[in-house]
Amino acid sequence: MNKVYLDNNATTMIDPEAYEAMLPFLGENFGNPNSLHSYGNATHAALGRAMDQLYAGIGAKDSDDIVVTSCATESNNWVLKGVYFDILKEQKNGKNRIIVSSVEHPAVGATAAFLESLGVEVTRLDVDHNGLVSPQALKSVIGDDVALVSVMNANNETGVIFDIKSMAEIAHAYGALFHTDAVQAVGKIPVNVAESNVDFLSFSAHKFHGPKGVGGLYIKNSRELTPLLHGGEHMGGRRSGTLNVAGIVAMGKALENSVKFLDFERSQVRRLRDKLEDAILEMSDTYVVGDRQVRVPNTILASIKGVEGEAMLWDLNQAGIAASTGSACASESLESNPIMEAIGADAELAHTALRLSLSRFTTEAEIDYAIEVIKKATNRLRAISSSFSYAPSWHKSGL
Ligand SMILES: *Cc1c(COP(=O)(O)O)cnc(C)c1O
Repeated sequence: MNKVYLDNNATTMIDPEAYEAMLPFLGENFGNPNSLHSYGNATHAALGRAMDQLYAGIGAKDSDDIVVTSCATESNNWVLKGVYFDILKEQKNGKNRIIVSSVEHPAVGATAAFLESLGVEVTRLDVDHNGLVSPQALKSVIGDDVALVSVMNANNETGVIFDIKSMAEIAHAYGALFHTDAVQAVGKIPVNVAESNVDFLSFSAHKFHGPKGVGGLYIKNSRELTPLLHGGEHMGGRRSGTLNVAGIVAMGKALENSVKFLDFERSQVRRLRDKLEDAILEMSDTYVVGDRQVRVPNTILASIKGVEGEAMLWDLNQAGIAASTGSACASESLESNPIMEAIGADAELAHTALRLSLSRFTTEAEIDYAIEVIKKATNRLRAISSSFSYAPSWHKSGL
């Protein structure tokens, strides 16, 4: 087996149909959709279809509630900074605080820290043993001084799913807006903005088999939000910049197809994920973060005692398998991952993190091969690890 891609939470391969759909707009159909001539008309019609696919994909009603952006990082920045300009800067209605989870993607986490540097009060919600924030935890810290609550729909490292519907309800009871970064949920589990009643929802095409450099923000009732990008009249003046027509057309197709495969995701992708996870847990001194029933179907954040995450990645890569350590080991510092910390793990555990993320394109043969390689690498690396001894202290989780 030459190449196995198990890093789908970082980015995904492009859906061949989405790829085909975008080609004409990189070639002969180069018109600016805002132009009032035949070149513009061709692109205008395709954009309309793509927007319909986006609305259907996340259950938004067809008004002006979705604004296309360049990525989810932009969408997340826009929500936090927009709420800053609209409410926090002037402390409207006494609101000078936001609440975020402690395990947000940096696109939310670092933006919250930036607002903090401008004088906004930021409350960070800790996670429990599953890497989750309970609605109860939000209830215990929220107050009328809160303008925005931002909690992700599913976590990029662990795959755990947050109860955003309950949290949106709590936020609304205190007159706060609710935002969710749904990048890791869209295309993996059903996402419906009408049902969850969120005010803002971010998504990114390249996490659901669309191209890179295009994403979106759902804004309930096309509420006014101070733009991040001022300029022309694109997207109703809310997000200026000539539209990425090819990217948007491909994103629409990719979302439509991903939603068609949600049942497959829940059955087949999950079955393969569980097979791989079972094989890891069968080895001694291994651990998986988050109960299976609270996770998206494609993700495993495992820890294999005595095996440095980086060393495992090296062995996997030698065998043609792409995986990740999650962001647990992304930094050079010895600071441990908040999720790992929350489940009571020490620094060693955080350094043995291995994230494996599947997609609907992952095959059973690939998983069988990955199991074989991971077992071999574990034996090899444990044999040369000075710190590892078989202490039967770890309990099994993830079942
Ligand atoms: C990948 C990711 C992002 C960033 O998306 P981009 O479109 O690459 O900016 C944001 N949030 C989460 C949870 C992600 O996994």
